[in-house]
Amino acid sequence: MKAAILYAPYDIRIEDIPRPEAGYGEVLVRIRAVGICGSDVHFYTTGKCSGFVVKEPLILGHECSGEVVDVGDGVDNVKVGDRVAVEPGFPCGRCYYCRIGRYNLCPDVIFYGAPPIHGAFREYSIAKASFVYRIGGGMSFEEAALIEPLAVGMQAVKRSGMESGSIAAVFGCGPVGLLTIQAALVSGAASIIAIDPVDYRAKLAEELGASYIVNPIETDVVDYVRKLTNGMGVDVVFEASGNPKAFNDALKVVRRGGVVVQIGMFGEYITFDPALIIDKEVDIRGVFRYANVYEQAIRLALSGRIKLKPLITHIFPLDRIKEAFDTIIERRGNPVKVIVKP
Ligand SMILES: [Zn+2]
Ligand SMILES: [Zn+2]
Repeated sequence: MKAAILYAPYDIRIEDIPRPEAGYGEVLVRIRAVGICGSDVHFYTTGKCSGFVVKEPLILGHECSGEVVDVGDGVDNVKVGDRVAVEPGFPCGRCYYCRIGRYNLCPDVIFYGAPPIHGAFREYSIAKASFVYRIGGGMSFEEAALIEPLAVGMQAVKRSGMESGSIAAVFGCGPVGLLTIQAALVSGAASIIAIDPVDYRAKLAEELGASYIVNPIETDVVDYVRKLTNGMGVDVVFEASGNPKAFNDALKVVRRGGVVVQIGMFGEYITFDPALIIDKEVDIRGVFRYANVYEQAIRLALSGRIKLKPLITHIFPLDRIKEAFDTIIERRGNPVKVIVKP
C-alpha cells in the first residue's frame, strides 16, 4: 500500500509499505480522507511540534475517516463495509486518567501521527474498534475527517463550562476556531465575537454564525469588546490562534470571574500580566485533544446544526501531498481545511 513518509523537514516521500493486519479488538480501515492539521504542518516544516520530535521516518495525519475493510476477533460495534470516522488516539484504558474518564490525558495513549506512532496519510490503517464510529451515509468522507477538529472545539466548550446565553470571543478563525464558534453556538452562546486578521476567514466565521467580526490589525480588540459589552467584557474567551498578543488581549477582554480557554499552541514562552488573572479571578483552562465527544460531534454534523463542508477548501490525492502542505504554508487560494485522499 502507498504511504506518505516524512524523512526530514520538507522531505516527504510516497512509498510502498506492507499493509497492516487487524489484531484482536482492532479494525483495518481503508483511509479515504485525512485533514491536514496545524500540528502536521509544524512537523512537516520543522520536524517537531510542542513536546514531540520526529526522530525516525514518520507517517503524519490524524484527522481521518474511511471504510472498514477487515475486523479482528472480538469486534462487534462495526463491520466490513461501514463508513467510519476514526478517533485517532487509543488510550491504555487502565491508568488513573483513563479510569476517571479523562482519557485524553492518558500518558500511554497511542495517537496517530504523533512520533513515534504512524498516522493516517496512507491507504490502510489499523484502529482500535472502540474508537471507530459509524457515520452512515449522511456525510462525505471529507466532512467526516473534520469530526476530529470539531471534537477539539467541543472539548473547548466543555472545558469552558459556558452557560447558555453567554457572550464569547473567539481569537483565531482557522478550522478549530471556526468549529469552536459553531460548538459554542449549539451549546447556547447568545453571541460570538470572532477575531482574525485574515478577511476571508473572518467572513467565514460570520457565515457560520459569529455575530461580530473584528480585524485585530485594523481595530483595537480590547476597546471594541469593552464598548460592545458596556465595559463588562465577555463571559468566555476561546483563544485558538496561539498568538501571544491574542492571549494578552484575552486576559483583558474576559469579564471578572470569566474563563479563558487556551486552544492555540504557542511556539515559544510568552509574557503576560498575571495581575489581570488575580484581580479578575480569571480561570485559564487548557485543552488537550478531547475525550468522550466524538459520538456527539458526529450527531451534530449529521443533524446539520454544525456545518463542516464550508471549511473544506482544497482536496488533493496522496501523490500530491507536498502540494497540499504548500497550499497551507503559502496560503494559496485562501485555504481553510486542506484534505488529502489516500
Ligand atoms: Zn490536529
Ligand atoms: Zn491510560
